[in-house]
Amino acid sequence: MSQALHYPWFESRWAHMVEQCSGGRLPHALLLAGPAGIGKQDFATTLGNYLLCQAPANGQPCGRCHSCELRQAGSHPDFIQVSPEGPGKPIKVDQVRELIDHLHSTAQQGGYRVVVLEPAESLNTSSANALLKILEEPGEDTLLVLISHQPGQLMPTIRSRCQRIDFAVPPAPDAIAWLSTALGLPQEKSEQLLAIAHGAPLRARDLYQGDAMDQRKQLLTGLADLLRDRVSASELATKLTKCDLLNCLDWLASLLNDVIRMQMTHSDQPRVNRDMKRMLEAVAKQGSRVKIFQMSDRIQEERVSLMLRQNPNRQLLLETLLQQWSALIR
Ligand SMILES: [Zn+2]
Repeated sequence: MSQALHYPWFESRWAHMVEQCSGGRLPHALLLAGPAGIGKQDFATTLGNYLLCQAPANGQPCGRCHSCELRQAGSHPDFIQVSPEGPGKPIKVDQVRELIDHLHSTAQQGGYRVVVLEPAESLNTSSANALLKILEEPGEDTLLVLISHQPGQLMPTIRSRCQRIDFAVPPAPDAIAWLSTALGLPQEKSEQLLAIAHGAPLRARDLYQGDAMDQRKQLLTGLADLLRDRVSASELATKLTKCDLLNCLDWLASLLNDVIRMQMTHSDQPRVNRDMKRMLEAVAKQGSRVKIFQMSDRIQEERVSLMLRQNPNRQLLLETLLQQWSALIR
């Protein structure tokens, strides 16, 4: 595990953070807010490493002291992470109670104590209420770092007790340069990958390194086949069983956005899904505006209910959307 923070888009923010630390102006609690996939978690981890390091230098943890060694081994007793036990699960009240017990009963190693809780929107009402108690009085030299990709979903009482730092997606040239280096990709490829990831470079990297790009390709090829009646909506929905549902909705929404933009601007060039130019051109030319907006609304509703952790009938949901897609140009 690297100790330092390597994302160029965080440079000035990090410098400011280091200043705040050395000036002794750290609050009890920070809320790092902003879209997923831009490195907020690494920012929090590095901040933890920095505060725990016994000999930080040049605004970075040294990477060599006993504390840094413990951090590298993942066994520093004063660095505590709280996250849901599985994807889509809430952070439970028992987890927060355990944290409180730990903070009250364990002696510190003589320095700071850092708690990173992520994502904060996974707190349910009872765990959020339990957390309020320590947000008010976390104890001496203790920093709580809450990370949120959707700060609007947090209880206002949680938000108001934290000093909020807002993170935006980085400037595209910075993100593209970073992606090209990190993945060894030509600029044009990085540019498209970044667009698919809505400008979030770490999400782009993860999409590329996982099998998400294969899944996307499977969906897009399937959509083209669907328009040519080479496959039925239910057959395609079955084929896509391994695809992540939220990703599928995201990609469908992105295709429709391209179509809407192409129709409005009378352009034949999709902004994001350039690899699907021909299919999108056909849909933009023949597609009914009303049906496109209806499908787009439906996707948005399904995304919201998925985020609220409702368990949909995936085959049925995909099949309905795919039918809507094939009906766009009929
Ligand atoms: Zn160190």
